[in-house]
Amino acid sequence: MVIIGDGPGGYEGALVARQLGADVTLISSGGIGGSAVLTDCVPSKTLIATAEAIDDAAASGYLGVQIDGHPADNADFSANLATVNKRIMELVRAQSNGIKASLAEAGVEVIHGHGRFISHDTVTVTTTDGEASPVETISADTILIATGARPRVLAEAMPDGERILTWEQVYDLTELPRHLIVVGSGVTGAEFASAFHALGSEVTLVSSRDQVLPGEDSDAARVLEEVFARRGLNVKSRTRALAATRNDDTVSVSLNDGTTIEGTHVLMAVGSLPNTEDLGLAEANVTTDDRGFITVDRVSRTSARHIYAAGDCTGVNMLASVAAMQGRIAMYHALGDAVSPLDAAAVSSTIFTEPEIATVGLQQHDLEEGEFRGEHIMLPLKTNARAKMHGHRDGFVKLFARKGSQIVAGGVIVAPNASELIHSITLAVDNRLTVDQLAQAFTVYPSLSGSVAEAARRMHTTQ
Ligand SMILES: Cc1cc2nc3c(=O)[nH]c(=O)nc-3n(C[C@H](O)[C@H](O)[C@H](O)COP(=O)(O)OP(=O)(O)OC[C@H]3O[C@@H](n4cnc5c(N)ncnc54)[C@H](O)[C@@H]3O)c2cc1C
Repeated sequence: MVIIGDGPGGYEGALVARQLGADVTLISSGGIGGSAVLTDCVPSKTLIATAEAIDDAAASGYLGVQIDGHPADNADFSANLATVNKRIMELVRAQSNGIKASLAEAGVEVIHGHGRFISHDTVTVTTTDGEASPVETISADTILIATGARPRVLAEAMPDGERILTWEQVYDLTELPRHLIVVGSGVTGAEFASAFHALGSEVTLVSSRDQVLPGEDSDAARVLEEVFARRGLNVKSRTRALAATRNDDTVSVSLNDGTTIEGTHVLMAVGSLPNTEDLGLAEANVTTDDRGFITVDRVSRTSARHIYAAGDCTGVNMLASVAAMQGRIAMYHALGDAVSPLDAAAVSSTIFTEPEIATVGLQQHDLEEGEFRGEHIMLPLKTNARAKMHGHRDGFVKLFARKGSQIVAGGVIVAPNASELIHSITLAVDNRLTVDQLAQAFTVYPSLSGSVAEAARRMHTTQ
């Protein structure tokens, strides 16, 4: 088994393949853990942990907390970015080393370099500076491609790593941006805007759409916009950034409405491109779609026999959890183990803003577009006793159920720790539980999860 790529799609696949008795060689050009561990998921969520601590501290004045005899909400909380980023990089290294140790313990051979197909069953490895590595070609019965994706950059806003940044470069900063302009209001843009504002930066979020978080639940996006507005985070909606220029210690971002925004830094969050160009896919008869993502089925098979693909390079729900699952599924399938095809409708995901927005299963747009016949309920968080105790006012629990059977079809939670709370709805969706079954399971009083059960209870019907 040869695996090209060292992110969750690759290393999780490698561990399963070893467990099932295959000889596994993993080719790594990025660093074990891939973008998920080194530049994307792990560092961003660690940065957000500091942002959350500041948000909690700033909100604690409302609960009567004082600092040196003064209400905590009047205190000027901010982060020392050099300290925060040092901690992030230590944690990233530790995570990567932990995965490296697991691979070594499992007996996975790791080769460092760039993997490329020269035929359907043979891959060459070159070092990243272009030299041939000691092992030049490897043939395998089965090959898994898990090469991930990278930030899309615009020629008119070329990142310089200092003032014009991709999301991979923010951890090199030693000082908090005084005014950060975030271009792109998708998940990544919204998360960084929310985090840097909490850390103490002035933030302007440039959004080309009517609402932030295009494609996500519009009630959730509305809550986030209200929170942003209340906190003084400036959102420029229906505006496209055309270019970003650096002028010594500042940046100018020109917009399609003819205006310009001045800031100290700009973070470009305008999507990702798959790492599939320099892989020799044509030599292996592996097809991609018109955007370069490798086409796979629900057990991660590509168009070529014995070649599988997993993770961001396939463009299927670009999440670390999905990459890992696709990698495992590929290996179960290739090695003849029991396998359940990927069920995209049961994938839960979270936008780690303040408050968090977690979703699973069928959504409002599916209901409105007639994807399923059903009904929904939305319960505001402010009716929940635990939320009141903590002073949480923003958010809701939304549940979708199929008409007739009352089977839970999906849900949205906007709340602190929504990433944890969504799991009960995920279990319901995955196991086709009814709203009554979800409602009957005990929840702790008082707890935010009580609102999930309450929403389900309110959907009970006697017909
Ligand atoms: C800012 C940000 C935050 C995110 N937060 C979350 C989150 O909270 N939760 C979540 O589930 N997802 C999150 N994601 C998404 C998640 O990071 C990706 O879905 C995940 O990294 C995909 O894993 P992967 O294995 O496909 O690829 P990657 O993690 O990108 O790993 C691919 C690796 O393969 C290497 N490689 C590429 N080409 C070759 C080659 N030819 N030979 C050898 N090696 C090669 C690359 O250098 C890279 O190291 C986030 C993404 C971003 C951008």
